[in-house]
Amino acid sequence: MKITQATIYPLSIPLIEPIKMSRELVRDAKTVLLCLTDDEGRQGWGEASVAPLMTGETLDSLLGSVKYLVEHGKSCEWAEPNKFAEIFSSILYGNASAKSCFEMALLDLFTQRQSIPLWKYLRLENKLSNLAEPKPIPLLRMLGGSPEKEIADAKEYRALGFKHWKIKIGSLPLAKDMERVAMLSDLLDGDVISVDANGALSLADAIRFCESKQASKLSFAEQLVPADLPLSDFIALKQKSLIPIGLDESIHGLVEIEEFIQAQAFDGASLKLIKTGGVLEAVEAAKVLKANHLGINLACKIAETSLSGAATAAIGFALGEIPWGFSMSNQYLQFDICAQALTAKEGHLDVAQLSDSGVGIKPEESRVKDAIAKGYALIQC
Ligand SMILES: [Mg+2]
Repeated sequence: MKITQATIYPLSIPLIEPIKMSRELVRDAKTVLLCLTDDEGRQGWGEASVAPLMTGETLDSLLGSVKYLVEHGKSCEWAEPNKFAEIFSSILYGNASAKSCFEMALLDLFTQRQSIPLWKYLRLENKLSNLAEPKPIPLLRMLGGSPEKEIADAKEYRALGFKHWKIKIGSLPLAKDMERVAMLSDLLDGDVISVDANGALSLADAIRFCESKQASKLSFAEQLVPADLPLSDFIALKQKSLIPIGLDESIHGLVEIEEFIQAQAFDGASLKLIKTGGVLEAVEAAKVLKANHLGINLACKIAETSLSGAATAAIGFALGEIPWGFSMSNQYLQFDICAQALTAKEGHLDVAQLSDSGVGIKPEESRVKDAIAKGYALIQC
């Protein structure tokens, strides 16, 4: 398979409402879409979002790396997905997000040529599950804002069938966050409730939190302390914690997963394509987590469109189950780039929404063009 043409779209899509995290306030999704045309005239789409505090990528850096990869990738033969990573590395060091964007578009083309949905291809290739039809994936809903808003959202979305929750903590004093967590845990008793501090707590506060009665009903606590703390601090937290410890910013791929398994320093990880460098490495990471009986949370950056949501969900459908849920972030966007956006049904994503061959989402060019970030233009190469 050869690439004959590529168009890169730098997008900015406003969120329905700003999302406050411990170290940033996100008002819009800054994301890059890539459309590749192959030598048979098919189109394949990829996406990666910026994440200055997680991957170091800004819109400019991501655009530059995607353009560089695509320009050099046009002379390559893209026959075997298991060779993609090797070819990427022969073109560009690092830059996991740009590689993820390119890989997604290539996998979309490859699986369209094979007339198979991406999730089914991943399942067959990796002999991942014997289930005939994958179970719906539970979607994780974020909670934040004023206590009144959190309570109203929790009630509204629970009535719609959501059973997985993530409470953002770390921007208020610890005692306040502990109060919120206890109140929401009581309200949502029996559901899978997690917190995410995006690395905002000190080790002492994280231990205090994890030993507290207020946090005792949580299914896991994600990235409480900064990723650049020494491994010994993560081991200390894990040993003292009374609840499972999840990691996100600390885990970019297999290297860190193996390091933290070796150190017995976590109970599970959040996998994002922009960190792992794409779907294929994320599947490998998920396989290792599963084999070690560790929790898996699939996640999109806040926020990515249905395209990235579909590629990430493909891993979940291939695996068969995602006990820590899937943070599908297109639900926070004011609009999506396709006519049929991925939507929650009873708080879950159904595999029927990804029945087409390829990744399963076809962006509409007019919608994509309408979302181009101010001051930017599409790039053709
Ligand atoms: Mg996180």
